[in-house]
This record gives sequence, C-alpha cells and structure tokens, in this order.
Amino acid sequence: MNAIESASRYFEQAARLMDLSPNMKRLLLTPEREVKVQVAMKRDNGDIATFVGFRMQHNSARGPMKGGLRYHPEVDAEEVLALATLMTWKTAVVDIPYGGAKGGISVDPGQLSEGEKERLTRKFVDEIQDIIGPDTDIPAPDMGTNAQVMAWIVSQYHKFHGFNPACVTGKPLELHGASGREEATGRGVGLLTESLLSKHDRTVNGITVAIQGFGNVGSFTADYLHSRGARVVAISDVSGGRFEPEGIDIPTALAHVRRHGTLSGFETSRSITNEELLELDVDVLIPAALGGVITQDNAGAIRARHIIEAANGPIEPEADEILANRGIEVLPDILANAGGVTVSYFEWVQNRQYFRWDLERTRQELSRTLTRSFDNMWRLATEKHISLRTAAYLMGIGRVGRATVLAGI
Ligand code: GLU
Repeated sequence: MNAIESASRYFEQAARLMDLSPNMKRLLLTPEREVKVQVAMKRDNGDIATFVGFRMQHNSARGPMKGGLRYHPEVDAEEVLALATLMTWKTAVVDIPYGGAKGGISVDPGQLSEGEKERLTRKFVDEIQDIIGPDTDIPAPDMGTNAQVMAWIVSQYHKFHGFNPACVTGKPLELHGASGREEATGRGVGLLTESLLSKHDRTVNGITVAIQGFGNVGSFTADYLHSRGARVVAISDVSGGRFEPEGIDIPTALAHVRRHGTLSGFETSRSITNEELLELDVDVLIPAALGGVITQDNAGAIRARHIIEAANGPIEPEADEILANRGIEVLPDILANAGGVTVSYFEWVQNRQYFRWDLERTRQELSRTLTRSFDNMWRLATEKHISLRTAAYLMGIGRVGRATVLAGI
C-alpha cells in the first residue's frame, strides 16, 4: 500500500465516526497546492546534476502551513503529499496554530559534498521562495536535513525577502534557532512513552525498549528513556542492529555516533538485523526511522506490548488492524512525534518576538503541550471505545473542519 492510501485509510476510519459529508471529506483531503520543481546543480567535478524537488501544501485552515524538508532517494510526489496531510492533523492534534505541508528532494545526501548540498539547497529555495514564508509555509528539518540546511535556507530566503528568521525553523542556535529544538522530537517521544505507561500504572524505570533508527529522533529518544531508567536493549541504523539483553550503554553509543557518524564499529553482545529488532520481546518498540516497516507480513510476529510511532507512518493500515486484534497498543505518529513541530512553533514565536527562551522553559512548555494533547486523546479513546490513532485523528480532523466552517468557503 502506498503512503497516500495509508494516510487516507486512517482519515476514513475517523471520518466515518464523525459522519463527515462526502463534500467535506473531499475538501479536507484535497491539497491546496502541489509544487514540483527542477533543481539543477553543478557538482564539485563540474558535471551538471539534475534533481526533482517538491513542496506540497495540504491545508492552511488553522494557520500558516508547517512541515519538514526531506532529502532522501525515495522521495516522490505521493510520499511528500501523504506526509503533508499528516502534518495538518499533527499540528491540529497538539493545537498549535498551523496547517500542514511537506517538502523534499529526491537525492541521496550521503553522495553529496557539503558544498554540493549547500548549492542544491540554495537552488531549491530559489525555486520555492515565493510560496514559503513566515505567514504562509514554514519548512523545518526532516530525514536527511539538519540545522545547517536550515541555515542555508534562511540565508537564501533573505536574499529575496530581507531578514526574516521566522521563515524556517530548526535553525542553528547561532542563527536564531531555539534551544531544545534539536532534542525535541526524541524528548517528546520519551515523554509520551511515560504518559502512556502511566495509564497502565507503570513508569519507564526498568522497562525494556527496542528503538529502530539512531538518527536525530531515535538517539534523543534513547538518551531520554535511558536517563529515566529504561533498559534500551536494542538500537539500529543503516549499519544494522545491536542487541544487549542487559541494556545498551546509551551514552557510549551516542559518543560513538558523534565520533564516527554511524553505529558501524559499535560492539554489543549480539548483532541483529533491522527486521529482527522489530520482533524482539520488549515492553516498548519504537520505530524511529522509515515509514512502512510494520506490514501485514510481520505484524503477526511483533512481540512488544506497546508501539510508539516515532517515525512518520511506520505501520501500514492492515498491520494496524492485526496489532489491534492482538492487543498491542499503538501511540500514533501524529501525536508521538509531534514534539519536533511543537518546539518549531516555540522557535517561530521567539523569532517573531525577538525574545529568547531558556532550555528549561522550552522543556516545560513542550511537556505541557504534549501531556495535554495525550490526556485529551486518551479520554476520547476511552469514552468512545476507539483506538488511540482514531481518537487522535478525530481531534485533528475535528479542529481543521471546525476552522474551515468558521472561516467559510
Ligand atoms: N519534520 C518534522 C515532522 O515531521 C518537524 C516539522 C516541523 O518542525 O515543522 O514533524
């Protein structure tokens, strides 16, 4: 099943319960604008390289559109659009005043030098600068992009529109970034794991956790949960998985990745594949890398009690049903990984006020926002006897729908 079909299937499940009219459904699902551009760039050796870039603007009923920018070889129009719709529901679930968008370039950033990445980014901004901006659509980091890429975006945007750091979030601290933005998605995943377990009268202290992906999201999630006493028994990245039944020494793993870029060369008692990691017998499984990793083929083999969707779209709808029937609880992506966009919002607010918060304030506000959203979702799911995912979609779609009706067509 492709990304768009998955996203619409989850939307449909909630829409049915809400009795949304077909016309309203069509309005909410139809993207406002789809942009596809050529991004040509001179390589270091003088060759011309041509890539395709996208910015999909799904919905702006609740405010300027917001969403990351992904550099990955598998980026295509359909995937970016599906991710843009997820952003619309995500910003609504945590009730920050944004709509949803997503962008990307179909490129393997590992094959580019820093100079090539900079030229590619600036060229992409040249192509989309007229449709982004602090009041229209605000990009941010996602897979394959980081604070450095955001710094090039802000610099290139200035050339067209003058100084305006709120045009992009996830910037470096030295260039109007916000403290706590880099850790935000992973920290949010950790905080929400605590919220979920608290509903089962448990804390994270002593629980076993497996995390797929050790990039920005997975590594900060591991760090947070380890610091709260959880036993992170498995981690992985492109170099494969590491398994340690007694718990991996996360600070050492983090130091290794800081030094070498990947987990390659980091030894634990057993090496496992990324697929095997998903099937470990653990309390909490956290897919924090690619989408579509839990499918109808492996859902029957998952042994975790709870799954926290730190990645966007890691569970396909057929697998979601199998997991539900097997009593495995899923915390859905549109809340689970919303810590990143929440702190992006705090960064944008600070940029607009030219006022800087300290890390403690950011962490407090993040925790407040996520906990409130979690409690609302939990209450709704319990009252209506529905899954957490359907409850989150009901909240998100309901808010976007009401804003649309209030503003009028
Ligand atoms: N790319 C992140 C996401 O998928 C963050 C988006 C943002 O900060 O705007 O939620």
